[in-house]
Amino acid sequence: MGTASDIKLIDENNIRLDGRGPDELRPIKIETNVLNRADGSSFIEWGGNKIMVAVYGPREAYPKHNQDINKAIVKARYNMAAFSVDERKRPGPDRRSVEISKVVSEALEAAIMVELFPRAQIDVFIEVLQADAGTRIAGLTAASVAVAAAGIPMRDMVVGCTAGKVGNKIVLDLSKEEDNFGQADLPMGILPKSDRVVLMQMDGDLSVEEFEQATSMIMKATKRIAQIQREALTKKYEIQQKEQGE
Ligand code: ADP
Repeated sequence: MGTASDIKLIDENNIRLDGRGPDELRPIKIETNVLNRADGSSFIEWGGNKIMVAVYGPREAYPKHNQDINKAIVKARYNMAAFSVDERKRPGPDRRSVEISKVVSEALEAAIMVELFPRAQIDVFIEVLQADAGTRIAGLTAASVAVAAAGIPMRDMVVGCTAGKVGNKIVLDLSKEEDNFGQADLPMGILPKSDRVVLMQMDGDLSVEEFEQATSMIMKATKRIAQIQREALTKKYEIQQKEQGE
């Protein structure tokens, strides 16, 4: 979080730099079954983010000493392509990608019926092709769709969304400028049917009231994002049914 007092991120009429109001999301588009070899896949465009997800499994966990006799292990791997940001990102895992992989794995595990697949492993590859702030929550949202598209039984979908504080105001779904120069960023992962929180991280400071305002903004947006996920999945089944009928 930088500070740049000369950058006005939100004006007196509550209009943000990209023209959005405080509780508006950036445009979101999700497609499923974009990769032939994966068991499930998805591609999400969320604002300027472009992220591809491939899911493999459930398959026998390897090496065997990693196996859990009670459930499948969910292994998400978040990676940012070297060309995904303005200045070339050094390829390979770094502290940030290891952290995001861990929190996304845990969020997905809360939704997947892992107890049905003892000794198995579910691999979720999240490849960020173009990054524009909010990649972890966009990646999580797309990953959940790819897991469902793979036919893996789930209790619920997982929806990711952020809220944050810019110009002393709480706003939804931070843009890159807002992420860089804002005062706080709160990414969350939610199971939309139960409103259960499965991911929560925070950068910057929020008062208790601001935190409550931010979480309630996220909860409302979660329902809209879950609808986009459902539409992406139903489209896939419509296409499958058409192919079977032909
Ligand atoms: P998130 O993408 O989930 O918001 P961060 O808050 O850590 O995660 O990152 C915010 C944004 O900063 C990213 O979406 C990306 O646009 C940019 N960014 C992150 N890591 C790098 C990096 N190594 N090099 C350049 N830009 C980066």
